[in-house]
Amino acid sequence: MAQYDVIIIGAGPGGYVSAIRCAQLGLKTAIVEGRETLGGTCLNVGCIPSKALLHATHMLHEAEHNFADMGLKGKSPSVDWTQMKSYKTDVVGQNTGGIEFLMKKNKIDWLKGWASIPAAGQVKVGDDTHETKNIVIASGSVPSSLPGVEVDNDKGIVVDSTGALDLPKVPKKMTVIGAGVIGLELGSVYARLGAEVTVVEYMDAICPGMDADVQRTFKRILEKQGLKFIMGAAVQGVDATKTKAKVRYLPKKGGDEEVVDADVVLVATGRKPFAEGLGLDALGVKLTERGQIAVDGKWATNVPGIYAIGDVIEGPMLAHKAEDEGMAVADVLAGNHGHVNYGVIPGVVYTTPEVATVGATEAALKAEGRKIKTGKFMFMGNARAKAVHQGDGFVKIIVDKETDRVLGAAIIGPAAGDMIHELCVAMEFGASAQDIALTCHAHPTYSEAVREAALACGDGAIHS
Ligand code: FAD
Repeated sequence: MAQYDVIIIGAGPGGYVSAIRCAQLGLKTAIVEGRETLGGTCLNVGCIPSKALLHATHMLHEAEHNFADMGLKGKSPSVDWTQMKSYKTDVVGQNTGGIEFLMKKNKIDWLKGWASIPAAGQVKVGDDTHETKNIVIASGSVPSSLPGVEVDNDKGIVVDSTGALDLPKVPKKMTVIGAGVIGLELGSVYARLGAEVTVVEYMDAICPGMDADVQRTFKRILEKQGLKFIMGAAVQGVDATKTKAKVRYLPKKGGDEEVVDADVVLVATGRKPFAEGLGLDALGVKLTERGQIAVDGKWATNVPGIYAIGDVIEGPMLAHKAEDEGMAVADVLAGNHGHVNYGVIPGVVYTTPEVATVGATEAALKAEGRKIKTGKFMFMGNARAKAVHQGDGFVKIIVDKETDRVLGAAIIGPAAGDMIHELCVAMEFGASAQDIALTCHAHPTYSEAVREAALACGDGAIHS
């Protein structure tokens, strides 16, 4: 008889959330984690430590750039990097400890160690083989590599995001390879700490997948904050010594190889699914062309009883997408429906200002031939944003021209990552821009800019 109804492999946001929901639904559940602490990439070396450093350095930026203007005068703070890192470690510890508490509270067994799957219905951890009716693989992802670039987080010269969260000292010059979310967030952290940050990107625009107006405005704001960009640059390699590195790149438009010098190079060219050591080959678990575990609409692999969720399957590599799949697959295992609306998964960049998007872009809808309208409202017209020195940016809502139904949105502005959820809820409920425009919004809030953008889809915004 099976010891467990379900064993989940990996205790990131996909795995631990799934474990809690499985337990809540009455399934006897265990979770396997090879790291010392629970929470996966997100809590240990991803979302949470990066946000702690973004918060601390945002405070520094405010003190250096905006305090005097608000009449807050006096000695500006100096950076104690060791203390800032220990604050970050403390934040991580509180959160990973919280997950451990939740495992105990929900009577979920934590099987410590690295798991493999000898056969469907069996999970091996160390010398023990556990029997289970179902297995959910939530083994996540790791930073992807770049040909010609050798990352060594211990040496601290050419690092990936994990190394960049724990550099021994703040570099004078940092080169970031890749203008995606992780590169821009961590680049912002070091720019605020005084590093000269240059971002080298292969594409001609930052944050691939966003609308061009969002990309342009975001880049302009980051440039104002001191980040430099080299766009259309194909990195050929990185030459590192014990103290410095040179990034060599070829301009895509043609010309000779060029070089950027740095004390630290952060390679932030994306992440790849991680399923090493599980024994998927021998089991015959099918992968996609991009090396993700292939699943059907119910997160089932081709091997009965084995499911997969989160970064290891296709879709945006985001913690909340993994969490939603974790809850949904638990429902499936408990005999319920289990559903994720992949059309309404917000994406957020936690810089200052934040950038948040949801749904379809204007460009994608136009390419499909959809008839659309857009409503845009600049934060310059929002009293609250101006009061906090964040009048840059805008809210943009994209609606169906005939029905006025919200199809997508983008926000560059204060608390964009929180505000985007009003638009997510609108999309989930099939709301129109007029529904948002007719909803009373408190004054003075940043959210008034969402209402104004909704008004701009119709008769016009008031404060523009
Ligand atoms: P993971 O979090 O990667 O967890 C997988 C876990 O499985 C790991 O702990 C691993 O040790 C374990 N594991 C793997 N194989 C085995 C095995 N065989 N046996 C036992 N254990 C195993 N996303 C956001 O939504 N918002 C953000 O702000 C954000 N910021 C990020 C910042 C950085 C710097 C990085 C790197 C990522 C960030 N992400 C963010 C992405 C987010 O961390 C991932 O999308 C998310 O962690 C994926 O969750 P997961 O559960 O699929 O996998």
